Amino acid sequence: MQLTIVGWSGSFPGRESPASCYLIDTGDFRLVLDLGSGALGALQRYTGLADVDAVCLSHLHADHCLDMCGYSVFQNYHPDGARPRIPVYGPAGTAERLSAALGSDHLGMADAFSFMTLTAGPAEIGPLRITTAHMNHPVETFGFRIEHAGTVLAYSADTGPCDDLVELARGADVLLSEASFTDGPDLPADLHLTARQAGEHAARAGVGELVLTHLVPWNDPVATLEQASEAFGGPLRLAASGMRIPGGGHA
Ligand SMILES: [Zn+2]
Ligand SMILES: [Zn+2]
Repeated sequence: MQLTIVGWSGSFPGRESPASCYLIDTGDFRLVLDLGSGALGALQRYTGLADVDAVCLSHLHADHCLDMCGYSVFQNYHPDGARPRIPVYGPAGTAERLSAALGSDHLGMADAFSFMTLTAGPAEIGPLRITTAHMNHPVETFGFRIEHAGTVLAYSADTGPCDDLVELARGADVLLSEASFTDGPDLPADLHLTARQAGEHAARAGVGELVLTHLVPWNDPVATLEQASEAFGGPLRLAASGMRIPGGGHA
């Protein structure tokens, strides 16, 4: 199982990266995890759009799902003919929300994708064993634990401090955690993690490696890394476009 960082910019696309998007590839199964603003273009550097087997959307904020609009155009209007529907797993209301964003009066989201509602708990998606839990964010948001062939990846999606994230990430080889804030006074509650809090969650979960993502363009990446390192003593790095993370955390 290999994780590729497609987009790591937090809350909106940055100069260096689209918004959130990650590709998980087992060799014969490709899962796109979030498809935020600007990510559809970058995704094509790492997989053909016709080669994606499933999509999981952590939540319905635009920086995690809005490029599904462009993806529906690829699916519905390809010159070789309409593509088979791709399964899309998301929170309740995903199909309606994306259809409203697309605004199509002809072929739409339901022609391009088959939507399935995520619930908290275990599921099998292709060869992946996936466990989801609700995160601490203003809209329904799922964090993910993804297991395949003995390796474990956890993804925070967007969350404020959250005990369930620690449980999802327990003993994972890699925790891909958001770090939207750096230390500061008067940070909003129940919205995002600071880099230090991401480190604290990683330490509590005992993960093998911490990769910080959802990095907001106005933050100082050096401060982000430093503050996380004060809370987590293990291997730690910032997500970067095209970064590939092999299972086992030996990247
Ligand atoms: Zn976000
Ligand atoms: Zn969000």
